[in-house]
Amino acid sequence: MAKSRCPRCQHTSFEMQPAAVKNSVYQLYFIQCSACGTVVGVTDDSLHLVTTLLETLNIKL
Ligand SMILES: [Zn+2]
Repeated sequence: MAKSRCPRCQHTSFEMQPAAVKNSVYQLYFIQCSACGTVVGVTDDSLHLVTTLLETLNIKL
């Protein structure tokens, strides 16, 4: 399987970083190169929100 690489510095390690995005109603996270900080993707915390909601409502799947 091919190894994912940063398009800027070719590093192969990435990290999630909370992102301040103007006018976003959700907390977003950048997926960025852990060496140079180049952003390669973005995600939200919807899984965390759903998990918290299920726990709050005491719903087990
Ligand atoms: Zn990089």
